[in-house]
Amino acid sequence: MLRKLLLLSLAAFLFIEWGPLSQERHKYGIASGDPFVREIVLTFDDGPRETGMQEIIAALEPYNVKATFFVVGKFAQRFGRVTLLLHKAGHELANHTFTHPRLYQDPSVEHIMLQAKRCDDVLEELGIRKTRFLRPPGGGWNTRIFNAMRRKNLKLGLWSLNTADYTGRPKEEIVNLVLGSARPGDIILMHSGMPNTVEALPEIVRGLQKRGFTFVRLEDLWNGGRT
Ligand SMILES: [Zn+2]
Repeated sequence: MLRKLLLLSLAAFLFIEWGPLSQERHKYGIASGDPFVREIVLTFDDGPRETGMQEIIAALEPYNVKATFFVVGKFAQRFGRVTLLLHKAGHELANHTFTHPRLYQDPSVEHIMLQAKRCDDVLEELGIRKTRFLRPPGGGWNTRIFNAMRRKNLKLGLWSLNTADYTGRPKEEIVNLVLGSARPGDIILMHSGMPNTVEALPEIVRGLQKRGFTFVRLEDLWNGGRT
């Protein structure tokens, strides 16, 4: 039984890494950048929140760090003012659907497209340039999601380093995890509205800048970076 399970998980791993989905993933999205270029991306999911966003802006500003925010359309609509503040501060705003459903459980490509479109519409109404990347809530993806994204001309924006800050873990753990495991080309997953994450930011930025990392937005990483 155990052997069978192990074999099954190995097969699933090989399929995901080298099977047809892998080619789709590389063609239609990004999960990390060039491993030989010392660039790194900070991404913040699930915002904007009513509180805590200006604190992120203020924490990054002294270091001139630009990040990527995967926003939930209905929150961007509700908190339009702070959404604009993020944009004006030079951060990239990307698509995290309109209501944050588990897209991989949705059997309809049209539903998935609508979730993407409604989030894009909110950003457009705010006068924010339409973003290229979509991060499916929970990070799960399948061929239906790829189809929807191809038809919406969106790219999958995944991550390579998960801080698990949504667990409410202490600031020290977040700092140690990032400084202990960050590699060139990493896309770091964090969340909006987490006070411990905001507190961890200065140490993370200083620590990585000291090691020669440049912080770029996901779009810059996709385009080969600015440096
Ligand atoms: Zn999310």
